Amino acid sequence: MEQNENLIFDAKHIWHPYSSMENPPVIHEIIAAEGVRLTLADGRTIIDGMSSWWSAIHGYNHPRLNQAAKQQIDQISHVMFGGLTHPPAIDLARKLIDITAAPLQKVFFTDSGSIAVEVAIKMAIQYCFAQGQTKKQRLLTVYNGYHGDTFGAMAVCDPINGMHSMFESVLPKHLFAPAPTCINDEDWQDSDISEFRQLISEHHHELAAVILEPIVQNTGGIRFYCPEYLRQVRALCNEYDVLLILDEIATNFGRTGTLFAYEQADICPDILCLGKALTGGYMTLAATMCTDKVAQGIAADGSGVLMHGPTFMANPLACRVASESIDVLLESDWQQNVKIIEQQLTAELMPYKAHVMVKDVRVKGAIAVVELHKPIDDQMDWLPTFIVDQGVWIRPFRNLVYIMPPFIINEGDLRQLTVAIGNIIEKLSEG
Ligand SMILES: *Cc1c(COP(=O)(O)O)cnc(C)c1O
Repeated sequence: MEQNENLIFDAKHIWHPYSSMENPPVIHEIIAAEGVRLTLADGRTIIDGMSSWWSAIHGYNHPRLNQAAKQQIDQISHVMFGGLTHPPAIDLARKLIDITAAPLQKVFFTDSGSIAVEVAIKMAIQYCFAQGQTKKQRLLTVYNGYHGDTFGAMAVCDPINGMHSMFESVLPKHLFAPAPTCINDEDWQDSDISEFRQLISEHHHELAAVILEPIVQNTGGIRFYCPEYLRQVRALCNEYDVLLILDEIATNFGRTGTLFAYEQADICPDILCLGKALTGGYMTLAATMCTDKVAQGIAADGSGVLMHGPTFMANPLACRVASESIDVLLESDWQQNVKIIEQQLTAELMPYKAHVMVKDVRVKGAIAVVELHKPIDDQMDWLPTFIVDQGVWIRPFRNLVYIMPPFIINEGDLRQLTVAIGNIIEKLSEG
């Protein structure tokens, strides 16, 4: 393994996600990227199966995204959003309003997905507060969810596997229903929603909102569930006058086969969180959208301002690249591309269901996961280097080996990823 000065410095001084500085993780240095390939410092290239955590849907170093960023830098990189506005924010908001469900008419730009979730929660609580419903301050969600790492978002992550259990005593106590289990609408059983229904019927007086990841529970286990569940949740939220927040941060912009996952249930949330692929993986930007009803409701009590305003709100560079990324996506045959990826992932990974190590294989859109019987976190001293030596970039966690490649990936490169997954399983079964 390369142990150059950079990596030694990195290990000594720089925190990586979910890592220890005393026992630093295995790290590989990337110096360039092009299309679906990342270039390592030693000159090798590896095929990216992760889209840099759901974000780089068009691949890296995209000429149109590069050009958009360069043009914007020459105009203005950033200006405060308090009292000022700019074309990149206006263009992007127009596009987002255009491509999301018609009732979603208001856009709040934030720096990251976690903050988009914080803003969504604030919107919901402020909405209730302004209606005089000051007791409606809690949230209802499901187990296995993931909504971010900040405190408000953490409180609606799965309390057990949400990586946040040590903060339990400082987090607000929300309500959790069992995670949906039904995968196809044809197999729908009312029992899947019965505990959720009971919780919302008993607690709606104290509930500001329900928050869910639509169709795919991501970091909480890469679990897929049926649209009928979402339809039932929407109906219950209407019945009990509770707002519905959908967190599309991982699923947005085509990942599950529709532009937004909620489209599969033909419903509209009251509040929608967007992020990750919003800028095509170029920079950090997220957005919280809401309906006119929510926005008017927040303003109803006179003071009426939404209490949030990040320093880098609606950063022009990020907004400009996001706008271009949406154009690149919509001008491409993304639906066909995602379908082809889904078919190939299904054909090449489903056979691993028969392997003794494997508990389940799931594919949805351009997402595939091989769930193993046992966690492999204790293998992370050698596994990352083994994976890179296969010419690919895959980052397993817990008992999940999963990929969500850029939509532009070709058949051969995708095969190299699925073959590598097979090699990982084989290697792990050698013990
Ligand atoms: C990644 C993610 C977040 C948090 O976004 P960050 O940009 O990492 O803060 C929130 N919700 C979901 C569903 C996510 O996948």
